[in-house]
Amino acid sequence: MNTAVDTASLRKLDQSHHLHPFTDFHDYAEHGGRIFSKAEHIYIYDSEGHKMLDGMSGLWCCNLGYSQQSIIEAVYHQMQELPYYNNFFNCSNQPAVELAKALVDVTPANFNHVFFTNSGSEANDTNIKLAHRYFDLIGKPSKKLIISRKNAYHGSTVAAASLGGMSAMHKQARGLDYVHHINQPHWFEEGAEEDPNAFGIRVAQELIAKIDELGEDNVAAFIAEPVQGAGGVIIPPDSYWPEVQRICDERDILLIADEVICGFGRTGKWFGSETYGIKPDLMTFAKAVTNGYMPLGGVMVGDRVADVLLAGGGEFAHGLTYSGHPAACAAGLETLRILKDTNIIETAASDVAPHFQARLQEYVDHPIVGQVRGKGMFAAVELVSDKSSRERLAPESGGAVYCRNVANENGLMVRQTGDAMIMAPPLVCNREEIDILIDKLGAALDATASHFGIA
Ligand code: PMP
Repeated sequence: MNTAVDTASLRKLDQSHHLHPFTDFHDYAEHGGRIFSKAEHIYIYDSEGHKMLDGMSGLWCCNLGYSQQSIIEAVYHQMQELPYYNNFFNCSNQPAVELAKALVDVTPANFNHVFFTNSGSEANDTNIKLAHRYFDLIGKPSKKLIISRKNAYHGSTVAAASLGGMSAMHKQARGLDYVHHINQPHWFEEGAEEDPNAFGIRVAQELIAKIDELGEDNVAAFIAEPVQGAGGVIIPPDSYWPEVQRICDERDILLIADEVICGFGRTGKWFGSETYGIKPDLMTFAKAVTNGYMPLGGVMVGDRVADVLLAGGGEFAHGLTYSGHPAACAAGLETLRILKDTNIIETAASDVAPHFQARLQEYVDHPIVGQVRGKGMFAAVELVSDKSSRERLAPESGGAVYCRNVANENGLMVRQTGDAMIMAPPLVCNREEIDILIDKLGAALDATASHFGIA
């Protein structure tokens, strides 16, 4: 598979038959892409043998990198023992049971139940049904509306995309009419000259205005990522979450934390909710729960909701063929064991992340850097042509696309969102590996500055 001939024919087949997610089909059919064939530790290799440092942990999921042999073995062993059985009709399986307990052990104390899905999108669909069912059962059936945020990402199914605030997605599929959006706490983009904490309070209080506009008796829940990931690693001002929490506590609405990216160590603690002192009623997880090795997601159901659902009232009419899939749960169980036994989250938070964030700060004065923001093991570097006016380098994110392409060609996998360069390296990186990442990023920033003539 490593010969140029194989790659050429594979690429041709790929372009002929394979429709890729979030891809311009026409463009891909014409130009094709890169085929990955191997991975080791924090490095990925394409079929032509190019080695790249994966600064994105796959798609924010391989927090432990690519060489976790014990996860692979756990899946292999489970596939031999019981490759599949469902969890419908009063059936269960050992890895699902044990993973449920392991998740209860690592999540905040009010979480004692889990509902498994295959993905973050399905978990967010599940959240809507859980919230609706909860309010139906407590005799408040008018509470059906959900409030979310512009530029949020909650997944790609119709319900999850409706919860999300990505305008391009809303343009292509009609969303649910019971989801409403308020502004995001993106100070660099929308705060202008305002003090960041004043901005944080003001944007949080849009939630009060929206609840009042819709009527508290009609609103079921507010959903948000502790740190918006796909939207651009948007670190909220410190004032933001305490104010949101205060509002949710005062009003009779459920708080849903979408931890699909933040969960399992990304922000420095097990969950972003802990980093920001959020006390959610429902918590979405996916991705890093299996280190990305198997598809698995789910919802942690807090006691407030679980107590009502467990008190009687009939069947919860919802489930997926692969909810609690034994092999996926075996991967999750082994991933959690590694996270617990090796203190990787704590080591990353106390040693690697501070080094990563400090090294990124070296670029604050770079002529094309408008802002460096980060938390734990993820970060964004916002590109501008003029620091004071925050003017962009080129229309339609052209500056960041150029920078990303240079970084990719130079062996660093990073992502571009809008005008920002996005990074979420594996938690298992050491300081030297972070230095390699930073040096490659710096070279890409320099090349971009010189390409656009910014000194
Ligand atoms: N929520 C968040 C915060 C996400 O970042 C994502 C995926 N990037 C999802 C939900 C959807 O997860 P999935 O792609 O597994 O459906």
